[in-house]
Amino acid sequence: MSDHDFVSGSKPIGLERGEGPYLYTADGTEYVDAGASFACTPLGHSHPAVVDAVQEQVANLTFVDSSYPVQSRENAYAAFVASTPDGLESAWFCNSGTEANEAALKFARSATGESKIVAATRSFHGRTMGALAATWKDKYKKPFEPLAGDIEFVPYGDGDELADAIDDETAAVILEPIQGEGGINVPPAGYLETARELTDEVGAALVFDEVQTGMGRTGSMWACQNAGVTPDILTTAKGLGNGLPIGGLAVRDWIADGAASHNATFSGGPVVTAAAHATISTLVEEEWPAHAADVGAYLTTELEAALGDEVREVRGEGLLVGVELKRGANRVARDLAMNHQVLALPAGRTVLRLLPPLVIDGTEADRLVDALTAVVAPDNSDS
Ligand SMILES: *Cc1c(COP(=O)(O)O)cnc(C)c1O
Repeated sequence: MSDHDFVSGSKPIGLERGEGPYLYTADGTEYVDAGASFACTPLGHSHPAVVDAVQEQVANLTFVDSSYPVQSRENAYAAFVASTPDGLESAWFCNSGTEANEAALKFARSATGESKIVAATRSFHGRTMGALAATWKDKYKKPFEPLAGDIEFVPYGDGDELADAIDDETAAVILEPIQGEGGINVPPAGYLETARELTDEVGAALVFDEVQTGMGRTGSMWACQNAGVTPDILTTAKGLGNGLPIGGLAVRDWIADGAASHNATFSGGPVVTAAAHATISTLVEEEWPAHAADVGAYLTTELEAALGDEVREVRGEGLLVGVELKRGANRVARDLAMNHQVLALPAGRTVLRLLPPLVIDGTEADRLVDALTAVVAPDNSDS
């Protein structure tokens, strides 16, 4: 951490190089990256397809604004829209997840002419004033209030409560198909369908925030495809540029047709869209989502077997895995990093979040299981 950065937390691990699912310090110590810095590198670190695309683009044309057609941007839009479910035919790129959600809420309001936003308990949608208003945790919100208005929270996963909250004045319902930051919470079967039916009945926009669940992590390119539910607006960011800062949203025609003026200077910049195009194409062509499903199932089964009663639950889909511990996740994450060279993330107080690059295989999965066993269930450990 820089001496001048007054915001970011600091971990005493000076990383210098990354390759695939591994990170290295200057002295060559190897870490397994089980967090992908919040799911930002689905293809692993410094993937050659992304590196080549970015290097070529930055050398040829680093930036022009989005009013000029540029091949890398056209390619990225086409690949992004093609990767989303049928019905989502238009898209817009921005620079981050919070900006994608901010745009989603604005477009839902302008397309419906309504203002009410229904969001869920334990949600996380970002930290700008609108996306933050739809985020659950008071710790993130209170010091900055008042935020954007007319938000109603409902308990995540409860279809009846959702039905009570949605009415003719609802502009949007915003949900993560699986909650990330809130603790890797998988909703009950049928919940996303219920949200679809209820929003259809009143003409409200269904927004799925796939900033964390997207880009193949759950075993499909988009988590909503596992549930067979297509939203009106799908937002994403994190892994979209395999580490370069780009967010985006894909929308149905009625949202695009009803979109009032909105834009951003850096929208769809040539370099970040070159990264996004390379990332999406590689994920799709090399079928990494299916790989994530296989390795994720293996990892989850092995974790359950090794950790047993020492944890409350192992849950998630594909390589979006949460381990609900019987103690604080922060200290477990620290122990894993400092003593076992495994970098994982907490998600709330007691959930450890594993979001490795999708390119891990059984070898890395076994390393994660062994490290977690040594920290959490040493009696079950054979090392
Ligand atoms: C990280 C995250 C965001 C915010 O993305 P930023 O790029 O940090 O603004 C929004 N929604 C979800 C589900 C996230 O995980």
